[in-house]
Amino acid sequence: MSLGAGREAGCFPACRALDKGDVNAMTDSNSTRQTLLLGDEAVALGALHGGVSASYGYPGTPSTEILEYLIGEYQKNRQSGAGGPAARWCTNEKTALEGGLGISFAGRRSIVTMKHVGLNVASDPFINGALLGIKGGLVIAVADDPGMHSSQNEQDSRFYASFAMTPCLEPRNQQEAYDMTREAFDVSERFRIPVILRLTTRLSHARGAVTLAPGRAQNSLSKAEDKTQWMLLPVYARRNYLFLIEKQKDILAWSTAHTANKDEGEDKSLVVITSGLGGNYYEENLEDFVKSRGGKVPARLHIAAYPLPVESIRKLCQGAERVLVLEEGQPFIEEKLRGILPLAAVVSGRFDGTVPRTGELDPDKVRQSLGLAPRPNVLTAGTFDLTRLPGRPPQLCAGCPHGDSYETIKKAVAELPSVAITSDIGCYSLGATPPYSAIESIVCMGASIGMAKGAAEAGITHAIAVIGDSTFLHSGITGLIDAVTADLPMTVVILDNSIVAMTGCQKTMIPSNRLPPLILGLGVKPEHLLELEAKRQFLEENAARLKAEIEYRGLSVVILKRECLEAFRIRKKQEKAE
Ligand code: SF4
Repeated sequence: MSLGAGREAGCFPACRALDKGDVNAMTDSNSTRQTLLLGDEAVALGALHGGVSASYGYPGTPSTEILEYLIGEYQKNRQSGAGGPAARWCTNEKTALEGGLGISFAGRRSIVTMKHVGLNVASDPFINGALLGIKGGLVIAVADDPGMHSSQNEQDSRFYASFAMTPCLEPRNQQEAYDMTREAFDVSERFRIPVILRLTTRLSHARGAVTLAPGRAQNSLSKAEDKTQWMLLPVYARRNYLFLIEKQKDILAWSTAHTANKDEGEDKSLVVITSGLGGNYYEENLEDFVKSRGGKVPARLHIAAYPLPVESIRKLCQGAERVLVLEEGQPFIEEKLRGILPLAAVVSGRFDGTVPRTGELDPDKVRQSLGLAPRPNVLTAGTFDLTRLPGRPPQLCAGCPHGDSYETIKKAVAELPSVAITSDIGCYSLGATPPYSAIESIVCMGASIGMAKGAAEAGITHAIAVIGDSTFLHSGITGLIDAVTADLPMTVVILDNSIVAMTGCQKTMIPSNRLPPLILGLGVKPEHLLELEAKRQFLEENAARLKAEIEYRGLSVVILKRECLEAFRIRKKQEKAE
């Protein structure tokens, strides 16, 4: 693959030189060329070539590779002494976005990356950030996961953009991912508002050819002139909110005129509205579809820039017999159409079941929605029907420390009455499935501790929260502060594998040896903070000590500690290379 070429392109001259406005140096070193990139890598490179000064994020599939790429460039530049845009993982998505706001405050460009549910965590600075009248361009790259390949829901980030009244760009191939990232910075600065770049799994994790454009210099350092634009005291917030409302007209004019929002076709007996990958799948079936309609090409509008181009939609749908919406994700456009089109308009899509209500789109589902006969595919076309292969549910790696931790927990609670075991998000979520079947809840990052506290308050005698070390730092700490204050009988079990394992072994924000002092600093009693080595040979002893803490009628914290096998393998490889 030609990824190496793309990575070279990210090696910019030192940012100090760029601050002096030496754009030509960069332009000369980035002559137009093509390379093959993942959607996530295209976003990363688009940010680098778009003059980003800092990139922040929290790992989460399918967004992780954006910041992995940018951090790789940052480290490479640091090693060579070249300098360049900063890139760092943050404690959670909220702190990442707040960092991005700070970069914008200083007049520079930043990109903040996260998966869709991460935007829930970052929603406070995001929605309030829309009111600020920001300075340097701020792009929030959010990767949605329709079909929930590795997520707990299918939420669609376009709703967030609409809620906060910010522009949103939705690329449908790697080239657009690159181009729209660059454009998003310009749009952000033009309207002084954060911009959402909405990605989905198939785009983030598929490769495509991307033609690179000359890079742009970073913005110079220049603090916001009017500090009151950054202060959401009621007196200024009311004014800023009016500004936000007033700029909607201009933002709408921008999205309406956007070249990626294009219409085509003439036959109004059916108007097709597509967005994101829905547009690709529609085009894949178009030839057959047009043939099935006796050569008539349906009128069609593809939407890639939001807010929705209301007038374009009204114009196109005027006189339409039926409107079919093919969008990847939740029925965002379809729902909005109810307020845009006359009540009598016939709208089909996910709501009426023409398109499956849940799950990821694919060419076959779109084909079915168009009323075309299924095509034989690789799964069913041969002599052996591959769809009948047994499923392969995810499992912990053989020898994973979490396996031993769950055996310990199960042994500790085996004879106890009234037990509730809440858990959290990470590799250890697999403790929900056989052979462990040890945990009873997985809701959102950090929820295990608050839920165990609630369960204890409700009267469950032995409430236990199981949480990973990085999830604890992400959003378990605040729950533990509540638990310390309540001092209810409950036990927090921290599974410390010294890494963010599930998303590809990113470093945790603090090393394992700093966890105990942190926990003690929050007010946990030293005599009820235990550190145990999660090894099979200590199973009996660990279970007995854990059981004693579970039976203690106050708050206790038990750290079950052993390095993730994958992290161990990576560490050894790095040590060998040094
Ligand atoms: S990656 Fe690490 S933590 Fe995750 S299942 Fe494998 S060994 Fe366990």
